[in-house]
Amino acid sequence: MIKTKVIGRVFRQDEIADQIYDMWIETELAQGARPGQFVCVYTKNAAALLPRPISICEVNEEKTMLRLVYRTVGTGTNEFADYHAGTEISLLGPLGNGKSSREACFPDRRWNRYSADAAAFQRDQKGWTGLL
Ligand SMILES: Cc1cc2nc3c(=O)[nH]c(=O)nc-3n(C[C@H](O)[C@H](O)[C@H](O)COP(=O)(O)OP(=O)(O)OC[C@H]3O[C@@H](n4cnc5c(N)ncnc54)[C@H](O)[C@@H]3O)c2cc1C
Repeated sequence: MIKTKVIGRVFRQDEIADQIYDMWIETELAQGARPGQFVCVYTKNAAALLPRPISICEVNEEKTMLRLVYRTVGTGTNEFADYHAGTEISLLGPLGNGKSSREACFPDRRWNRYSADAAAFQRDQKGWTGLL
């Protein structure tokens, strides 16, 4: 399917660590998006033609917002860091292949070991992290 550029709106943005920004964007792209995919974010700077790819960190339950977490390294990301609630933002995507949280936790598909006996998993006091 051909992707087209859409306009989203920054819902909120916080600097969560030195040069690391956490941005929630209201956008229709959230409808079909999965964490692990990415969006191309266009700058407003005409001299910086190419959009900047940023991974989708989270999609909210109602599928109306995407969360991006990024580090400022240059022209584009420094511009995005100045955005605030209400700023319009041009996006293309979602692109790439996302992962379900189960796939993200078990890249070697070891969850199958427990699929036949859910009770065994319940008894495993170490929980998910004990399986990794
Ligand atoms: C599929 C994909 C997903 C990505 N997801 C994320 C994400 O979730 N969060 C995130 O922070 N970044 C992510 N990136 C990297 C992000 O796209 C770049 O950091 C961004 O394009 C830089 O744009 P800029 O205009 O700020 O920097 P530019 O002005 O283009 O570059 C400025 C300088 O920084 C250097 N530079 C560029 N990118 C990086 C980098 N990543 N690390 C160190 N130096 C760099 C350049 O070589 C140049 O010297 C992703 C990249 C790809 C390809």
